[in-house]
Amino acid sequence: MRFASDMLNHHPMIVPETLYWSSPLPQFYPIGHFSSIPPLPINKQFKPNRSLIDFLSGRHLLRDELPFPLYELHTHYVNGYLQIEPGIQTINGKVTCMRCGSHRSLPTFSCARCQSPNCQYCRNCIIMGKVTFCSPLYSSNYKQKREETITLQWHGKLSEGQKEASNAVIRAIQTNQSVLIWAVCGSGKTEVLFHGLAHALSEHKSVCIATPRTDVVLELVPRLENVFPGLTISPLYGGHSVPSSSFVISTTHQLIRYKEYFDVMVIDEVDAFPYNIDSSLQHHVEKARKRSSSLIYLTATPSEVFLKQENLKVVRIPSRYHGSPLPVPTFKWVGNWRKKIDRGKLPQILIDWITRQLGAEKPILFFLPSIKMTEKVKSVFDSHQLSCEFVHSEDEDRAEKVLQFRRKEIPILLSSTILERGITIENVAVAVLGAEDDVFTESALVQIAGRAGRSASFPEGDVSLFHYGKTNAMIAAGRHIRKMNQEAKAKGWLK
Ligand SMILES: [Zn+2]
Ligand SMILES: [Zn+2]
Repeated sequence: MRFASDMLNHHPMIVPETLYWSSPLPQFYPIGHFSSIPPLPINKQFKPNRSLIDFLSGRHLLRDELPFPLYELHTHYVNGYLQIEPGIQTINGKVTCMRCGSHRSLPTFSCARCQSPNCQYCRNCIIMGKVTFCSPLYSSNYKQKREETITLQWHGKLSEGQKEASNAVIRAIQTNQSVLIWAVCGSGKTEVLFHGLAHALSEHKSVCIATPRTDVVLELVPRLENVFPGLTISPLYGGHSVPSSSFVISTTHQLIRYKEYFDVMVIDEVDAFPYNIDSSLQHHVEKARKRSSSLIYLTATPSEVFLKQENLKVVRIPSRYHGSPLPVPTFKWVGNWRKKIDRGKLPQILIDWITRQLGAEKPILFFLPSIKMTEKVKSVFDSHQLSCEFVHSEDEDRAEKVLQFRRKEIPILLSSTILERGITIENVAVAVLGAEDDVFTESALVQIAGRAGRSASFPEGDVSLFHYGKTNAMIAAGRHIRKMNQEAKAKGWLK
């Protein structure tokens, strides 16, 4: 698509080539040619298409992502209800993708759409659709008023730690500030959000909960629909997109399609892959929220780099909601276990531990350093008549297997680090074989240990790290957990 510049009531504007009917025809250019396209004033006589506004409000979309005719988009632009900008622009002397903020990989190519032999595209965000020098990005900051009042229907009781954190969340939302809620595994971090979210919704603020994992999106949607009956929630994750409402639960990647929209941005598991290593995700968060908005980070294991940020307010919940201390991992030396596995054998100390747990009818969640190792260990377990299943990140049946494990149809579940977060199984015993491996960082081990003792009926849990040499990460994880328990005890929050 190419555009020509024109004037409308003394305001400069652009018109798509295919909508131009007067002659002689002007010169047409790719949209990137226009250095600035100021928004046109709102024409109050014009009646915007409600579904178009609902679809586009707060978002930042390519032409192909908008199921509306070009003519209709143009009419809304002309009447001030949507804005257009070039997908690629020069910002501070650097050619930049306006959607993902990348100014690195923007190669040139011969483009059929704008007929230029030197069009440019963004390689960084191409997986979400191709942004080029000739693609317009559409956005709308026009928000239709909603009259719905949403009330919180939750009658649970917050623990002392949750109460403090909940108040901090409310304050951050009221004052548009940032806060990190550092909540130990099993402290009930979602409940900490309820009162703050109720406050935001009563003020018609737009809210986003962003999480690195699709599983969490799917789990949070029904939970929040339950406590906020009548609320329309838009779940967004790869391959699934719905018209946006003012309450969005999204994977961090999908935020790329928003622009200056959210008043409240909650970043769940801020330390988790990929937010911590992919700086463009941080760009998406900044682009998606309003300049004046609140930012709430949640995690059980913040990184040191993250904690070093200036002026970051941190509120810790060192205790679990049920008031029992966190299970502290015990270290068990197993020698060169890899060699044994290669020979189809298991260390005796491991067999004894498994036998004890099975005898006590505890489901066993068993972590291994790699996908390959889960497969290997499965076959060794099979030959020892230890009934088990394995799951890993590329496993399509993962959800089903976890369900079977939960129903106690599978006594032992072998896993790569994929299940280190989020999974809650009553009365589970947790083991790591090969805890010395580099994949088991301090935060991974803290998360893994956090799987045990989560239920109020079984608040104690066995966490055993089988290793071939203690690592700093193992020692740090043990120290981390003990410190949280001490802090909870000092506050009088332990039963
Ligand atoms: Zn990009
Ligand atoms: Zn082009």
